Amino acid sequence: MSVGQVAQQRMRTRLTVKGVVQGVGFRPYVYRLATSLSLGGWVRNTSRGVVIEVEGGGLAVREFSRRLAAEAPALARILEVTSEEAEPAGETVFAIASSEGEAAPMPIVPADVAVCNECVADVSSPGNRRHRYPFTNCTNCGPRFTIVEGLPYDRPLTTMKTFAMCRACEEEYHNPANRRFHAQPNACPACGPAVCWDGEKRDDALGLAARSLAAGEIVALKGLGGYHLACDARSPSALERLRERKGRGKKPFAVMSRDIAEVRRFCSVSEEARAILESPQAPIVLLEKVAPDYLTEGVAPRLHRYGVMLPYTPLHRLLLEISPPTLVMTSGNLSEEPIVHDDHAARSVLGHIADHFLSHNRPIAVPCDDSVVAMLNGKPLPVRRSRGYAPVPKEVGLRGPETLAVGGDQKNTFCLLRDGIAVLSQHVGDLENVETVEYLGRAIEHFKQLFEVEPKVVAHDLHPDYASTRMARLFQGVRLVAVQHHHAHAASAMVDAGLKGPVIAVAYDGTGYGTDGTIWGGEILVADLRRFERAAHLASIRLPGGEASIRKPARMAIAYLLAGLADRGLQTAIDIAVPLPDSEMRVVAHQCASGLNSPVASSVGRLFDAVSVMLGNSPVATYEGQAAAELEAQAHGYGTAGEAYGFELRRESAGVVFDLLPAVREIAQGVRRGDSRAEMAARFHETLAQCTAEVCRQVSEETGLVDVVLCGGVFQNLLLAGRVLELLEEKGLRGHVHDDVPPNDGGLSLGQAAVASALAQE
Ligand code: ZN
Ligand code: ZN
Ligand code: FE
Repeated sequence: MSVGQVAQQRMRTRLTVKGVVQGVGFRPYVYRLATSLSLGGWVRNTSRGVVIEVEGGGLAVREFSRRLAAEAPALARILEVTSEEAEPAGETVFAIASSEGEAAPMPIVPADVAVCNECVADVSSPGNRRHRYPFTNCTNCGPRFTIVEGLPYDRPLTTMKTFAMCRACEEEYHNPANRRFHAQPNACPACGPAVCWDGEKRDDALGLAARSLAAGEIVALKGLGGYHLACDARSPSALERLRERKGRGKKPFAVMSRDIAEVRRFCSVSEEARAILESPQAPIVLLEKVAPDYLTEGVAPRLHRYGVMLPYTPLHRLLLEISPPTLVMTSGNLSEEPIVHDDHAARSVLGHIADHFLSHNRPIAVPCDDSVVAMLNGKPLPVRRSRGYAPVPKEVGLRGPETLAVGGDQKNTFCLLRDGIAVLSQHVGDLENVETVEYLGRAIEHFKQLFEVEPKVVAHDLHPDYASTRMARLFQGVRLVAVQHHHAHAASAMVDAGLKGPVIAVAYDGTGYGTDGTIWGGEILVADLRRFERAAHLASIRLPGGEASIRKPARMAIAYLLAGLADRGLQTAIDIAVPLPDSEMRVVAHQCASGLNSPVASSVGRLFDAVSVMLGNSPVATYEGQAAAELEAQAHGYGTAGEAYGFELRRESAGVVFDLLPAVREIAQGVRRGDSRAEMAARFHETLAQCTAEVCRQVSEETGLVDVVLCGGVFQNLLLAGRVLELLEEKGLRGHVHDDVPPNDGGLSLGQAAVASALAQE
């Protein structure tokens, strides 16, 4: 046969595409591609993915298969394409067939997407029928996950079901050539949601909100995944009132700026950071301050970075065009409770915080907080994976029974695992109040129903008293798997890095329950997904008063000074002005000596607390990780790595123990002498980095392993993470950091699921 004959010969191929291919403009794309190649056939959404049959000349069919994944829309995430030959049926026209509702493997729910450029153009064109319409969207952008009530992803199963489309919208929705073809939340001013000001539908609501914000008032703003509290980020009095009313302590607030030019007025924005700010996920990005006085001090007290995002809905854009150019935009909740998404709850919970309400009448089915990423070496390091990322699936590659992992008690997320694909929930929060625990229960039920998972295995933290552990025990007739906290961190990092192990895992965090019943948090493990060994750990110390020492890092400073300087510890604490009343100092000394109510811990987080207070930072923690964040900011001010202090490595029966007491002693001396605190903070980071890399080198020598994963909340510290990566490389080891799920407890559930699933395969 000649080339021409092959090209002409009719063939038909059936392709099944798995991944994020629904609600991202994939079918119209397939339609355009097939039509441009003059192919017949059809494309159909099914709950196991998109199925396509194309028929026509052999070359054209092959061309179609070749280009299908390569040219897919930006939001599509294709995990797998399978193809099989089919019998030609003589079809010459291509059609988009209606969705199939059959039950089948893991359905997929798309994440919310920031408004696209074309919709921005629509909203800003005076002649357009969507001119200034705050709920404009298309198949490339708009709400998804937060409006989904059930699957398949179709308008009747979203919170848009109560809005009947007008004729013009209906036409767009049914026209495959239109950008709004099957855009489920499609709407316009004639038929769609509308804005309300203090509960009343008003055309001038945005103008009223802008004026109120400019006057320094606090506005509760209903967005995509819940309510925000907004105020002018340059108004000290607005900030002060917001902090006071919200009961927020010193925890930094995120801000939303009008555009990149505005962000550059107070932050340095690398090219990579800009791309992430402007990405379809549009997360909060942590950026270095360049003009610390541009925003009022109260936005991010004592820190060297701001959390900044750009407007991600037309509503936000229209508001920011006329409001103050940078607004504080913080989750609308009471301290540590779930984000408020229900209009009634908003009025009762936020009513005493906000002066006014800018809301709308499109219900939010699923609450979802903003995501947060930091930038490490030009790459995103996730801090909170939520809006825009959840529930995008992750390929884990382990095929075991259907699994639920309930996560940990702080920064909770949970995870479903089925057919080798993991779905992580949005950020749930800290399980320290009834509201959040109840929310977790409801969210798990919603996910089970949405993703059609009936777990046979339920994984949870080893900690017997975690609220998440108690929740896991409520499941009947399942196999419960308790996963050690730092093993889960390690497994999560391995999945993120695509490693099966064994690896060396450096797991540094605040606290996690150890297999010996003590608190761990400075662990170097040799781990694969099934098991781990504790190869090394930070020297343990008593946490005087347990929980009290976590709330009051000053107590940890005393504990470390006593450990490092024995009898001279207390006097040194007084000399270097550790701010703790004399009476409390004596109580702490007694607790350290007797062990009364003072558990033993190997926590790197608590070491950071101690050093931070010694160097003059906040003696009381008003948010988790405050002391460490302030210490990093202080070290950042020094501008360079500094010289390491001493540290000790000891070989004990339980492995290598590394001890930074020599550094603590030198820092105490330095403070007495009046040395630069920024320099001492930098030198402390350098000491921990060198100590960590050296222990890894020794473990590598013994085991032959060269892959090292860095995990646990401490590795949100960019100075430490960046330096450890460098030092590992110098020693010929390969360091890995998270790039999709957070190193903190927000990534724990993925690790628990991976471990439970790996164990189930034995
Ligand atoms: Zn759009
Ligand atoms: Zn309409
Ligand atoms: Fe942790």
